[in-house]
Amino acid sequence: MKTGKTHGRIFLSPPHMGDLEQKYVGEAFASNWIAPLGPHVEAFQREFAATVGVSHALATISGTAALHLALQLVGVGTGDDVFVSTLTFAASVNPVRYLGATPVLVDSERDSWNMDPHLLAQELQERAKIGKLPKAVVVVHLYGQSADMDPILALAEKYGLVVIEDACQAHGAEYFSRKEGAWKKAGTMGRAAAFSFYPGKNLGACGEAGATVTNDEEMAKRMKMIRDHGQAKKYYHDIEGYNGRLDSIQAGWLSVKLRHLADWNEARRNLAHRYHRLFADASGSVAIPQEAEWTKGVYHLYVVRVQDREAMQAHLAEAGIGTGIHYPIPLHLQKAYRQLGHKKGDFPVTERVAAEIVSLPMFPQMTEAMQDLVAQSVKEFLAARVTANR
Ligand SMILES: *Cc1c(COP(=O)(O)O)cnc(C)c1O
Repeated sequence: MKTGKTHGRIFLSPPHMGDLEQKYVGEAFASNWIAPLGPHVEAFQREFAATVGVSHALATISGTAALHLALQLVGVGTGDDVFVSTLTFAASVNPVRYLGATPVLVDSERDSWNMDPHLLAQELQERAKIGKLPKAVVVVHLYGQSADMDPILALAEKYGLVVIEDACQAHGAEYFSRKEGAWKKAGTMGRAAAFSFYPGKNLGACGEAGATVTNDEEMAKRMKMIRDHGQAKKYYHDIEGYNGRLDSIQAGWLSVKLRHLADWNEARRNLAHRYHRLFADASGSVAIPQEAEWTKGVYHLYVVRVQDREAMQAHLAEAGIGTGIHYPIPLHLQKAYRQLGHKKGDFPVTERVAAEIVSLPMFPQMTEAMQDLVAQSVKEFLAARVTANR
């Protein structure tokens, strides 16, 4: 079993491969179920839908495909505008472009770094005046912390836009709706939601996989067809579709891992809270992630803010500790999206955050000893920096 520590190295988020998963793959080959779709995919879809708390889950080849499917099915198309956060992975906006629509980026909220509902409200107010309202909003639950959904859902209702959740980092994350007085799971709050099962995600496949979830029966039916070349039954194409199908092997592997998801998320939360405590005496120089009282995060990533982060990354790398930056360049400043016409300074909160964030090692199998080494190394660096600046 891989532990994430090999030859004295601590990885950022190593994929987990247990004995059960490996046994499963052996059985899959032995019994010849390697074609896509079929009973293993059906079973995983049922299990995953039940875990999220929705009536339908459609397994896809990736999280990107899952988001594409969701956007297409709610009717996003040529000429539409779709709001998306600017601090996210490019896959949150690319499917908007595939459909000929235009992403409209929104700055982050100061503490959670998710889409700022106040800025969304302002933008919608302006657009309502000129009659150019967007079709949809893609809400990302960044790093496994739920975005503040109450105000976003209220705005969506007021202005008639569809909410799609990008829950690709938020399997099992929860949000307390003050409006409804109830906890809600990520993926149950929008019209549809996309999940990714990329190996490093909280629920990871043995390669690429994703799922679209929804409570809308009609939409689920159409999604199922579009995912399979628009076939109602084999070789009867009622609508135009594409190949977005998931393999049986991936589905079976995911079923095995799904049984551990709740425990693994709990382990991530415990590790996160332990990191918080380890950094408590360095609070002047390292800012720990904020978890609002209305979220129960699943810590896909543990992201801190420091100054001189490149130097800190180099210091940690020397000690064999892997780190990452999610993400160094916000989408509005990426070359690929320059046609959106943004410049430096357009989204100041995100730009400030993006210059200081570092993701520290975080995975359920991480031991306390590994975590102590990471915290010690971070604090060593920060102390040396303070002395150097004196
Ligand atoms: C991983 C990820 C995706 C895309 O998922 P893939 O399975 O890699 O296609 C989309 N959005 C976010 C926020 C992600 O982290």
